Amino acid sequence: MKKGLPDCQRPESVSGYDDWYTVIGAPGLTFCPGCVDSVFERTIFRPSIRRLPQLNLNNNISCAFGSSPWLRLAWLLTLQQHRTDLTLLRDLADIEATSEPCPGGTEATRSWYGLRDREGYFVKDFHICYSDVRKTERLLPTLSGFFVRLPQRSSHGMYTCGIRAEGNRFSAYLDALIATHERALASRKGPDPMPFVDLVERKTRLRECTRDNMLTGGLWHFMPSVPSLTICEDCYEAVVEPEVRRNSEVAMRFNRTIQPVYGEGMGSSCQLYSRRMRKIFQRAVEDNDLKYLARKSKERREAELRLQERYKDVVRLAKRLSRDSAGVDDERRLNRELDRITQEWQAKWE
Ligand SMILES: [Zn+2]
Ligand SMILES: [Zn+2]
Ligand SMILES: [Zn+2]
Repeated sequence: MKKGLPDCQRPESVSGYDDWYTVIGAPGLTFCPGCVDSVFERTIFRPSIRRLPQLNLNNNISCAFGSSPWLRLAWLLTLQQHRTDLTLLRDLADIEATSEPCPGGTEATRSWYGLRDREGYFVKDFHICYSDVRKTERLLPTLSGFFVRLPQRSSHGMYTCGIRAEGNRFSAYLDALIATHERALASRKGPDPMPFVDLVERKTRLRECTRDNMLTGGLWHFMPSVPSLTICEDCYEAVVEPEVRRNSEVAMRFNRTIQPVYGEGMGSSCQLYSRRMRKIFQRAVEDNDLKYLARKSKERREAELRLQERYKDVVRLAKRLSRDSAGVDDERRLNRELDRITQEWQAKWE
């Protein structure tokens, strides 16, 4: 998805910078100087970009290129369609500003949309928020009406959004939607929803990736020779299976079926959901280098166990101190320690 876009230095909300940029007429769009430099500099779009006048340095701001895959798609489509203005980006910002935000992975009440299968029934366990429906229809106009409002009794229930951008399934869904749109354009007929319906039905049947949560007694894809590299069904299907189909030797070493891991100690977690590990996997596949993959996976697993152990120790200590009614200072110190552990995990190992 990130094709042709730089690695953004400010994808998360941060305060304290006064060098943000925006698009004239769309103050909701904010870009970091790095992305402006590499994306807009020396293009016809540069005159539409200006410094964001900022009244309060404490405001938390993130770079739209780094934080929003929708916006990255809008940019790629702008280039692909040889557009000479930033209308797609502006429209997305407008949709963000005028609809209830996508609740992502938190259950919430929204006006929910769904997808009809071959028989005309709604696909089970798939709900998409109206904000995402609007974004899809704006960027991929043949898909207008593709998602249908759920019947009254379920359209206002508490759900998570099936197409949330931070989920691991998002890029697979978005790629499939783009392909559906492109086929509709080429055939000059309405979009054929079936490939997307099949994908969603396959995905919603799988247990969703639980990322770095430690599970005991779970079932995983792994190689008998590298048991530290446990992969959930979701990530296996998204990352490993395509390489199996391309006859990658590394990918073919994994068990095709999910199995229990023996001697897993404090538990196992998925090792292939993060962007860092997926890059490592791709490199191992390209170089056909199983040793590299095994080494990187072992390092990660060791760090994970060490940090989990430390995290537990600190939590235990905090509980004991709160029983002995410790002071605010102790509490603060322990919270800082927990933050440090999380930061080391996210910055170096995840
Ligand atoms: Zn950026
Ligand atoms: Zn959503
Ligand atoms: Zn996973």
